[in-house]
Amino acid sequence: MKIKGLIFDLDGVLVSTEKNHFIAWKKTAERLGSDFTEMDNEQLKGISRVDSLKKIITLAGATVSTEYFEELLVFKNEIYLDSIRTLGPGDALAGVLELLQHAKAHDIKLGVGSSSKNANAILELLQIKDLFDAIIDGNGVSAPKPDPEVFLNAAQGMGLSAADCLVFEDAESGILAAKAGGFKVIATGNPHVAELADAYVDTLTDFNLSLYEKSL
Ligand SMILES: [Mg+2]
Repeated sequence: MKIKGLIFDLDGVLVSTEKNHFIAWKKTAERLGSDFTEMDNEQLKGISRVDSLKKIITLAGATVSTEYFEELLVFKNEIYLDSIRTLGPGDALAGVLELLQHAKAHDIKLGVGSSSKNANAILELLQIKDLFDAIIDGNGVSAPKPDPEVFLNAAQGMGLSAADCLVFEDAESGILAAKAGGFKVIATGNPHVAELADAYVDTLTDFNLSLYEKSL
């Protein structure tokens, strides 16, 4: 079977800014008088900024006003944005550039389906933004992952149906979203979610599209 489009989650698949998010959330939790550990951070993977903050407030046992909630969202994002300004082309994860170039050379469409509201900025810093036919980020969806909307919108933007596309994901919510949308999913970078996907690779370097197509 011929795959006509590849759709990538951003964080943990094309680039890793997990550490940047973690440090920014840790500083946010400190303002609530709470600690925030790597283990707590696991619960935030693939989750929107608003839902992440709700979880942190719950973990802190705090109650905040709507105004303070908004202030904390802005605070977190400013720390995060400041810390990712130094990202460059060398920060794309292993195998990413090769796979994108392979796709381009074979007329395979490329899309991004991410919960991040900073997806466009990050893709620009990595200097790969122009390679994509459709970029759907946290600003372009009404229902977050595990709802399939973000991936369905990306496929639509590429002029393809879910059955023609392959999704790359590192988080449970994202894999569930892709599955719910009728996509085949390759999990990467997170062995804990391998079983939920159609196939698993440690990094995209290990993914061979021609071989995968033959297995379908
Ligand atoms: Mg991710």
